[in-house]
Amino acid sequence: MRRFFGFTLLMFSAVTVHAWGGLGHRLAADLAFKTLKGPAAKVYAPLSKRIVDHVMDPDERAHLDRTERERHFLDLERFGVPVPDVTKAAATPDTSVKRRQKMLDQVRATPAEMKGSARHPGTLPLALDETYDALVAALKAKNDDDTIRYAADLLHYVTDAHQPLHATDFHDGIAGFQKGVHGAFETELLDRCADARPSKATAEPASKERPSLVALTVLLESHALAGQVLAEDLGCPTVCGKPVPKTRAQGLSCSGSGSLAKARLELAAGRTAALLTRAVEDAGRTK
Ligand SMILES: [Zn+2]
Repeated sequence: MRRFFGFTLLMFSAVTVHAWGGLGHRLAADLAFKTLKGPAAKVYAPLSKRIVDHVMDPDERAHLDRTERERHFLDLERFGVPVPDVTKAAATPDTSVKRRQKMLDQVRATPAEMKGSARHPGTLPLALDETYDALVAALKAKNDDDTIRYAADLLHYVTDAHQPLHATDFHDGIAGFQKGVHGAFETELLDRCADARPSKATAEPASKERPSLVALTVLLESHALAGQVLAEDLGCPTVCGKPVPKTRAQGLSCSGSGSLAKARLELAAGRTAALLTRAVEDAGRTK
């Protein structure tokens, strides 16, 4: 298994993946703003159109800056989570505070010399804390340009965390012949299937946890769902039997992976709305 793991890492190290396509990000961002109420709705209303226009900026930056790329994912296998299993149905992950706190410490301990390397395990939870704090500071200072930048970044990173294949080292398949499944899930499915597009934000209760810990809950859920996407790409309905098919037989369906994409984007919209609201409260802009 270790050998396979290392081989796959090498095989996919050159693949560049950043995010849901523009359509998924824009739809989730629009829904997040539609969900806001009270002071948060008032604070963001004059800026929301411009924020949505900038929601893909982090991907644009990632083309120019290797260290920006690392902010869009977290490879959970590198922090002790087993490889996605296409032969088992997705189980509810353990998202206990203890487990997430330990993972966060491990993410923080990633050696600095890995920065910019193709094997970097990702920094998404840390990027989210930085972005959230910068957004609160921008809101406090009533600096519109910075509010637009950091709100757009926040929407982007939270939505990326909801993409199942952004939580695994096997982000473009567990086998080489699956190459392309990443883009098929996050871009092609949404272009092709109305079923894959989000239509309302999933209500999310307010949380007082640091955004990095919220991100780890999201990423653990995402990772648990990655096997389902990879199984469907192999031609299995939701779970593969044994032996696992050796060819990519079917591709992704609107009703299977499409509805999963929709559910993840609707949750992303609800969770970003909750974080955008909290940022307004933390900045003292509630009156
Ligand atoms: Zn991204």
